[in-house]
Amino acid sequence: MALGEKDSLLVGKNISKWFAENRRKLSWRSDPSPYRVWISEVMLQQTQASVVEGYFEKWIDRFPSVSELARAKSEEVIKAWEGLGYYSRARNLHKAAQFILEHYKGKIPSSLEELRKVPGIGPYTAGAIVSFAFGGRASAIDGNVKRVIARLIGLEVEIDKREAMKKVESCVNDILPQENPAQVMEGLIELGAVVCKKKPQCIRCPIKRFCSALRKGITDQLPIKKKRVPITALHRQVVIIEVQGHVLIKKEDTGSVMADLYQFPFFEMGKRIKEEDMKCYLWDHFDFEVSYKGKLSMQQHGFTRFRSYLYPTLWEGLQMKEISNYEWVARDALEQLPFSAGHRRIKELILES
Ligand code: SF4
Repeated sequence: MALGEKDSLLVGKNISKWFAENRRKLSWRSDPSPYRVWISEVMLQQTQASVVEGYFEKWIDRFPSVSELARAKSEEVIKAWEGLGYYSRARNLHKAAQFILEHYKGKIPSSLEELRKVPGIGPYTAGAIVSFAFGGRASAIDGNVKRVIARLIGLEVEIDKREAMKKVESCVNDILPQENPAQVMEGLIELGAVVCKKKPQCIRCPIKRFCSALRKGITDQLPIKKKRVPITALHRQVVIIEVQGHVLIKKEDTGSVMADLYQFPFFEMGKRIKEEDMKCYLWDHFDFEVSYKGKLSMQQHGFTRFRSYLYPTLWEGLQMKEISNYEWVARDALEQLPFSAGHRRIKELILES
């Protein structure tokens, strides 16, 4: 299963050469400073490079350094992240920037040991910063690398098990050369992203002659993944209540999945329900009367192990009654506030109407 010293060196060499000739031009690669590498790597977790491109430059314009990020208001940080999803990443970036400002005078540390002390910086991000920004010999093992290595060495063990991870780490460590290891590390990630994808393009692969899975004809079976947790459907009635140009919204509590993001009031009441029933429910729930104005198209979005189906309806009331945990916000001000994914699309529909 292990490659052996000679083959490991050749694999590293082939990846290095291939990457030098095939690397994609991505904005963060033009100037791999520690801050830019950090931000781009966090954005790239769970999001494709083509999507990240649009966000990265805007983020750097808005928060050009650790200290500017640390001093920003949390709402501004969330707003700049709006649309990328998995908002805990933005919240962790913000906290980590504050920590780096306080403990390292705003300078991102260059060692794995120091980086791991920063809250929110895990082994992958620490390895990526040491490797890509400082040129150190560190491994950065993400899903792409796991896939390539599992196939390369024919790893027939569930990929997220400790035993499998140790083998992947050891193999990457053998492949990384003493000279310019960052080129091989980044090349390995790139290989997984553009060639050794879910459906691998083995014909284009620079390490195909060493690949165990290709030799055995099992590339489609590796890596072995844990069975997925079933997705739960949530059917939510979303009510957009407008009174004198103001709309009722709620900022989700710190600690909740949607923390610091705004949402319209919603109720888990099944699929479309009758207007009259909804009106009575709103009367009971908010203790004020509204009249029905229409409906918007159903929106859906996924988060963690849920898929939520949102059924938005429009309502009008007569007075801005104070409602605990909710606030009335001028329609024009909605644009500036960060909303959770599905509710953001509803907000856009409202603003377009
Ligand atoms: S030969 Fe195919 S399966 Fe093996 S590493 Fe290359 S792309 Fe992946």
